Amino acid sequence: MSTESPQACEALLAAAADRIPSDTARLDAELLLSHVTGLSRTSFRAWPEREVSGKQAESFEQLVSRRIDGQPVAYLLGHQEFWSLPLNVSPATLIPRPDTECLVETALDLSLPANAQVLDLGTGTGAIALALASEHPDWRVSACDCVEEAVELARQNARLLGLDVSVARSSWFADLEPGKFDLIVSNPPYIADNDHHLGEGDVRFEPSSALVSGTDGLDDIRLIVEQAPGWLNEGGWLLIEHGFDQAQAVRALFSTRGFVSVESRQDYGGRDRMTLGCWGAQ
Ligand code: GLN
Repeated sequence: MSTESPQACEALLAAAADRIPSDTARLDAELLLSHVTGLSRTSFRAWPEREVSGKQAESFEQLVSRRIDGQPVAYLLGHQEFWSLPLNVSPATLIPRPDTECLVETALDLSLPANAQVLDLGTGTGAIALALASEHPDWRVSACDCVEEAVELARQNARLLGLDVSVARSSWFADLEPGKFDLIVSNPPYIADNDHHLGEGDVRFEPSSALVSGTDGLDDIRLIVEQAPGWLNEGGWLLIEHGFDQAQAVRALFSTRGFVSVESRQDYGGRDRMTLGCWGAQ
């Protein structure tokens, strides 16, 4: 389609949706056109013949080409919503997933002391830490990540949202200031390094350091479960996201390490996708 002259929104969207190889092709196209034009998605339906400039049509076409190559929409837009919070994202971080909101819900259901000390390990964009801080201004939420760009991005997101979350650079617990927490939460990398899913879809463009964890996907979870007790208050909780087929192994790691009240919880698809346990007396 020529992009030199003004183009009707609907014609652009229909042509793009036909070419984007994704289950969400039409939505993707609408998000990209909205990003380029500043027009709302609902306006495309209300006024399908509305024209956008040739320049805007060309910018849209460039984004559509990158989407056809497989680039995730969130990286093309530079942002992603999580827990209704608009978060900036970059290819240095994992794109926050809806399922991780289940982890946030589970954390919010725990009965923690007033002014609870909370730590989000491997925070990426800051998604989990920021969601918790937005719900609990009384909690003292801190976060860490081993990637400098992620630390900067999480700090930027905290600033933009006006949320009080301190973000440190640390590989898990290694470089943290000494402290004790009432809740340690993490969505660590948990994919096995030979998993075929790594060659499919959006994950091809996400940093492997945020996704892959050794031959069984459990290297980082093993380290966190092993070291977390040294950082938990008596009665504090450890809550970790993992793969749908790892729940049994993760529960065993928690129990062997001495956690009590160990149980797994499900994601929106009804699969066991996170495990929690209490350190010491409840
Ligand atoms: N904690 C971040 C998230 O849930 C990043 C997770 C990761 O990089 N594995 O989105």
